Amino acid sequence: MSIEIVNVTKRFGGFVALDDVSVSIPSGQLTALLGPSGGGKSTLLRIIAGLEHADTGRIEIEGLEATDLAPQKRNVGFVFQHYAAFKHLSVRRNVAFGLEIRRRPKPEIRKRVDELLELVHLEQFADRLPSQLSGGQRQRMALARALAVEPTVLLLDEPFGALDAKVRKELRDWLRRLHDEVNVTTVFVTHDQEEALEVADEIVVINDGRIEQIGTPDQLYDEPANDFVMRFLGPVT
Ligand code: ADP
Ligand code: MG
Repeated sequence: MSIEIVNVTKRFGGFVALDDVSVSIPSGQLTALLGPSGGGKSTLLRIIAGLEHADTGRIEIEGLEATDLAPQKRNVGFVFQHYAAFKHLSVRRNVAFGLEIRRRPKPEIRKRVDELLELVHLEQFADRLPSQLSGGQRQRMALARALAVEPTVLLLDEPFGALDAKVRKELRDWLRRLHDEVNVTTVFVTHDQEEALEVADEIVVINDGRIEQIGTPDQLYDEPANDFVMRFLGPVT
């Protein structure tokens, strides 16, 4: 099983944002989609999520032919840079939302939400409003919410980008532990080399709408495929 992206091209007007991209993202891994701003990372993630449609090519998600499927039929959870919470609902209700609209039985929802809040260490904050959480806590809530409906794939687009460096580092380690606990196939977009090298099992380097290299952090570091990768990974601070 895997996420298969096959010959995907995406244009915005005359501009080619993704140029015949093919990549296979293995199941159960934490994969980083790494590249400079404007490289096409978000576009590729949005195409996997079904929020954007490719002009050509196909997408398969964990054995599901997804090219023409609506986002809610793809079993993907999505976390963005800026949390999208319901401001007037408690943390608990925010996490429960996806289960409530699917009309799951109340006791089942309660149990699942308790588990998730424990998983992201927000048990004590269940009855607060999102505005009463810190930025890092809010992104943990967003993660719990994305995981609530048991997606087969978790997609994160620069989820920690808006946070300060210290919190970002904490959440990075924390995402790694969370992933190892639930083992859901995860694709994590970042422009931060250090973040990708430290957190990911495998890194897909994308630039100018093309894949430059796919490899483990060690492979990329030891054997960069070309000058771009060498320069991009070189000055890690
Ligand atoms: P990244 O996430 O790597 O920074 P994006 O995937 O957001 O890059 O964007 C890739 C390129 O496509 C950029 O040049 C961006 O300006 C362009 N682009 C993205 N979305 C749109 C859109 N809806 N309309 C026009 N151009 C877009
Ligand atoms: Mg982006």
